[in-house]
Amino acid sequence: MGAQDCIFCKIVDGSIPSTTVHEDDVCIAFNDLTPQAPTHILLIPKEHVDSLAKTEANHKQTLGHLLLSSAQIARDKGFADDGYRVVINTNGDGGQTVFHLHVHLLAGRQFIFPPG
Ligand code: 5GP
Ligand code: ZN
Repeated sequence: MGAQDCIFCKIVDGSIPSTTVHEDDVCIAFNDLTPQAPTHILLIPKEHVDSLAKTEANHKQTLGHLLLSSAQIARDKGFADDGYRVVINTNGDGGQTVFHLHVHLLAGRQFIFPPG
């Protein structure tokens, strides 16, 4: 069971629709509703975790899985060589707005650093 009233748990259980680009036993990846780049995919664990700030040693496999899945999606979709940006906004100063851990996978344009 996911956290009550968590929109990403509702995407996992299908009660909120999303455009799924990848799914396996650990995670689901779908297009962001408000894309900030030509490609903007969110990867989330199926298990609810509030944020990166709440992860512990038992999340090691999940965190590795999210990053490896990001790299695989980038290769599958053909933008790995051009490049991409992976972002995990965390808590207030990090700009996190949905409190279910997620990885932003952004591609299709040049990104600046440091981000705003
Ligand atoms: P955060 O700001 O927490 O790092 O990122 C949350 C992201 O979730 C935002 O980029 C926002 O556009 C996206 N988002 C919020 N609600 C929904 C939704 O219902 N469906 C999808 N696909 N994306 C969402
Ligand atoms: Zn959740």
